[in-house]
Amino acid sequence: MSTSRRLFLTGTAGAAATLALAACGGGDSEEPEVAEVDASEFPEGSTMAALAEAGSITIGTKFDQPLFGQAGPDGDPAGFDVEIGKIIAGALGIAADDIEWVETVSANREPFIENGNVDIVVATYTINDERKEVVDFAGPYYVAGQALMVAADNEDITGEDSLDGKTVASVEGSTPAQYMLDNHPEAELQTFDTYSNCVTALTNGQVDAVTTDNVILAGFVAADEENLKLVNDGETFTEEPYGIGLALGDDEFRTFINDTLQAAYDDGTWAAAWEETAGVVLPTPEPPEIDRY
Ligand code: GLU
Repeated sequence: MSTSRRLFLTGTAGAAATLALAACGGGDSEEPEVAEVDASEFPEGSTMAALAEAGSITIGTKFDQPLFGQAGPDGDPAGFDVEIGKIIAGALGIAADDIEWVETVSANREPFIENGNVDIVVATYTINDERKEVVDFAGPYYVAGQALMVAADNEDITGEDSLDGKTVASVEGSTPAQYMLDNHPEAELQTFDTYSNCVTALTNGQVDAVTTDNVILAGFVAADEENLKLVNDGETFTEEPYGIGLALGDDEFRTFINDTLQAAYDDGTWAAAWEETAGVVLPTPEPPEIDRY
């Protein structure tokens, strides 16, 4: 539990930058490096060999979350998760243009991996034991925490202890929705398929608060500071380590992704990816330790 962590938004400059980021689909940043890779360098029969041979990869991500995965006017998503996806593709010799992006919402991430609709999921996806029963995770590549967002003029929600009798929105199949059910039965949880729909419910006055990871909420606040605010500067009450979801039991591929992440930590690629995306609004963190379970 880390109740003392706070997020400080950078005010109007941050909001303007976020909007610019959303408008131009990832800014004028360079694409991450694409390795010169021959498929035969990978173990025969491995997922890496198959993807390198195909020259393309299908990645599930969010399409409606500012800073992490938000579709731009060209239909391609932009954000930190998208950059992490590009780093992994690049290590397989696959250019950003050859990535097929598929929208995953919180509730379909496991089925999309299990059914092979996607090769990996990079989508603000918390690593936890329940999910590990059906998919595997590389990472974490970031650690978020659950927080609360309310209308800018709301004064009566001051933290998770003031939710009794309130209507709180979150997303179906997400860890924050589960946390509400487990810990705040006196609050009325309303679930939606995406966070942008939760935000619409909040701005319409249909719900009193939205709960999910602090950094997701920070993206929405930065895009509409006039109407939205974080409760208690984005105080968090859970830990949400973000992993890259992949098929259960594909240990070779998991090790490859973990090695790729570690290299991106070591050579500054990870930090550069952050600074171009979420870092426009949020402070740059230290990369978390990879959990090679
Ligand atoms: N990180 C949490 C989860 O994976 C909340 C964010 C999301 O729903 O994508 O459930």
